[in-house]
Amino acid sequence: MERAGRGEREKGRLAGRAGGARVSGKAEGEGMGSGRVLTLFLGALFLPVLAACGGEGGGSESGPVNVVATYSILGDLVENVGGENVELTTLVGPNGDVHTFEPAPSDNAELAEADVIFENGLGFETWLDDLYESSGSEAERARVTDDVETRPIAGEEHAHEEEAGHEGGEHAHERGEVDPHAWHDVRNAVVMVGSIRDALSEADPANAAAYERNAGRYISELEELDADVQEQVDSIPGEDRVLFTSHDTFGYFAGRYGFEVDTALASASTETGDPSAGETADLVEEIEESGVTAIFGENVSDPGVMEGIAAEARVELAPPLYTDALGDPGSEGATYVEMVRYNVSTMSEALRQ
Ligand SMILES: [Zn+2]
Repeated sequence: MERAGRGEREKGRLAGRAGGARVSGKAEGEGMGSGRVLTLFLGALFLPVLAACGGEGGGSESGPVNVVATYSILGDLVENVGGENVELTTLVGPNGDVHTFEPAPSDNAELAEADVIFENGLGFETWLDDLYESSGSEAERARVTDDVETRPIAGEEHAHEEEAGHEGGEHAHERGEVDPHAWHDVRNAVVMVGSIRDALSEADPANAAAYERNAGRYISELEELDADVQEQVDSIPGEDRVLFTSHDTFGYFAGRYGFEVDTALASASTETGDPSAGETADLVEEIEESGVTAIFGENVSDPGVMEGIAAEARVELAPPLYTDALGDPGSEGATYVEMVRYNVSTMSEALRQ
């Protein structure tokens, strides 16, 4: 009997939390004293719940805004700004390669249901225009690099002439093409976060204050990251700051933090074929001349090519860097901040030997 009564009361409280008005009715029945305590208690619970939901507004009714991010690094930036007010879908997940991505039919549905689609732009997602069209999506497209100061593709000026004739040459980039890998300069991530904040606030004005607050907090974290990277890089002697990687992904990083970059494939994309014997020989010579002790694989590339080149040049193949994608959840590159910290630690360990 006593137990059943308590069960009823619990149900009443739960109903009260959901329905609001019924709380005071129930409390009155229990007498003034306990009623006031109950009301105060529930009031304390209610405030944060209401604040979190943001009341009316939002993308659709009061639910979260449906957003799509094209790749995992961008998805992490969006999540840091959107928090619980967005429902995020990422098209190219951890360790996935945006350059060679082939959309699945389910990606059409994701775009069709989206309120906002976040994209890198600068020619990174070559497949997105077609996917957007075929999905019939009416989502707002937010290109997050619009305010970024762009760079031409790194290493382009010494791209090999004979490359045009080699298999995969149709993917070779033309002079003057913009480098899409803006996120490797942490200051650009700050700019991208500003664009994300603005796009979310426009799509969901009711939660603009939350987006502003989240972005502000995250930008502080990124500014600290940028300073930490600079400090760690400063401990690497200038002549050792040379990055040999499998594709031209670190141009912005090199520009910001004082590195030289060179690549096995002389391309901004991972989609060119393996280097020819001639290119490999040139590269081995360049590595030997540079005096570096290590070259780098990438989490989005097959390690085979770089393993061969490292063996031939008699240098270490360092652990792969996180370049165009995050690592799996729980890995050392699970978030943007973690991936940048991991990359720089890996570089400084490999290059200072
Ligand atoms: Zn890339």
